[in-house]
Amino acid sequence: MSAQPRITFHDGKSMPQLGLGVWQASVEEARRAALKAIEVGYRSIDTAAIYRNEEGIGQAIKDSPVPRDQLYITTKLWNDAHLDARKALETSLRKLQLDAVDLYLIHWPTPAKDNYVQAWKGLIELQKAGLTRSIGVSNFHVPHLQRLIDETGVVPVLNQIEVHPLLQQQELRAWNVAHKIHVESWSPLAQGGEGVFDQEIIRALGKKYGKTPAQIVIRWHLDQGLIVIPKSVTPSRIEENFQVFDFRLEPDELARIATLDKGKRLGPHPDQFS
Ligand code: NAD
Repeated sequence: MSAQPRITFHDGKSMPQLGLGVWQASVEEARRAALKAIEVGYRSIDTAAIYRNEEGIGQAIKDSPVPRDQLYITTKLWNDAHLDARKALETSLRKLQLDAVDLYLIHWPTPAKDNYVQAWKGLIELQKAGLTRSIGVSNFHVPHLQRLIDETGVVPVLNQIEVHPLLQQQELRAWNVAHKIHVESWSPLAQGGEGVFDQEIIRALGKKYGKTPAQIVIRWHLDQGLIVIPKSVTPSRIEENFQVFDFRLEPDELARIATLDKGKRLGPHPDQFS
């Protein structure tokens, strides 16, 4: 199997392009899923304070035969802690049993509270203090990103947003790329629902490449340069979702999947969510 690709940020650090998501997993499910993922070759895990399973990820890191410096751990600052990012990250680090995470994200801008620039200043300090190696955001739209850049001069390395074949966010993605902000897709499999796996083009490509619909969708993210974090707590699916480095989709196949975009959002709208 080909080596798993990494994405390099403007801060000089890099992360694996494919990782494991653990939203809606319990502490124990997250621990088992992370250990299984590491066993099959994943090196990146995406959690968040609000997922309430950082302890499980911490235990998996501790029990894993793979050294800490070969793993890439992301966690996120929840909406109620924008004004005290240091305390929030220290709590996360305690649960993760780590001295530092690799990537710390502001989970949502929550513009109604208007504290996200303050939160970003907090993350800048946390990076300087060595508690996180890189800093980024999640669910940020252009005006939110523009304010961070205008008011601090520090550009996030990454913006984690909802992207799947039914919500492709081309404009927002293009703006991020133009500003050297990598895009990471959340709910990359449309949460396994919404008929995404039953789309004719996805099925046809699965047949052509001898791959499952989930593998075709993950490959679609990878082939567009997106970082992708499919979630599963099922061992066979964790394994399946990693078997995607031995084929590539053709440009015309990516173009055909592009026609599935319906602007269908599964999560909250970032401008309204608080
Ligand atoms: P996802 O799109 O990754 O879908 C996960 C679901 O798809 C699973 O629960 C399962 O039902 C199904 N599935 C997984 N692998 C499959 C396979 N091989 N075959 C068939 N079905 C399969 O959904 P998600 O969990 O919402 O998103 C992934 C990760 O993104 C999360 O776990 C979390 O880490 C992150 N996330 C971040 C935000 C944010 O606001 N930043 C929001 C949602 C999710």
